[in-house]
Amino acid sequence: MRVADNLRNIQTAVARACERSGRSTEDVTLIAVTKYVSPERAKEAVDCGIYNLAENRKEGLLEKQTILQDDRIIWHLIGTLQTRKVKDIVGKIDYFHALDRLKLANELNKRIEEGILNCFVEVNVSGEASKHGITEDQLDDFIDTLAQFEHLRVIGLMTMAPNTEDIDVIRHVFRRLRELRDQIRDRKIRYAPCSELSMGMSHDYEIAVEEGATFIRIGTALVGE
Ligand SMILES: *Cc1c(COP(=O)(O)O)cnc(C)c1O
Repeated sequence: MRVADNLRNIQTAVARACERSGRSTEDVTLIAVTKYVSPERAKEAVDCGIYNLAENRKEGLLEKQTILQDDRIIWHLIGTLQTRKVKDIVGKIDYFHALDRLKLANELNKRIEEGILNCFVEVNVSGEASKHGITEDQLDDFIDTLAQFEHLRVIGLMTMAPNTEDIDVIRHVFRRLRELRDQIRDRKIRYAPCSELSMGMSHDYEIAVEEGATFIRIGTALVGE
């Protein structure tokens, strides 16, 4: 399938999900996850006007960035990052979706020379042992400790729903992330405006949009596997 055809299908589905939930499509940003595909295929997405691209590994992101050489692209790192690799990536990403430990926050902050990095705190809402992210009960303390890092801004929360066909389970996870987001946002913390929700992938983005996602991360359904 051409990316353009996939894109049209996804845009239609997003528009319907927005309609069902009384939201505006302008409040949902589509991120193309290009981790499975070639730079050529990623370029096809850019040519369709998708300028938000994501990779889950530092190596993949730098490779695509070097090959595509396009200033219009907004780069998202959506996977966890080893502390020792932070130095290679700072200054090259616009958004980081997987902030989940103090050591990582500390290293990012130390390496960023100027400006701020927009971060999502990754929350393991479903509590699966296999998943990254901090647990709900650690969230408030974690946000508090981030106050010391002048180069990091918590713009929102990110999660991955469990890999299940059970729509109610998925919806519950997204709804819970939104509640947690609202609680932090209502605290009006200077360095953590926390207005965004990064949630929803190929098989569950419609539910995520219904539950308030502002960034959806789509790989398979958009650019392919
Ligand atoms: C791979 C990945 C996605 C995209 O997954 P698809 O199911 O291919 O849409 C989204 N978010 C994260 C964190 C990923 O690692």
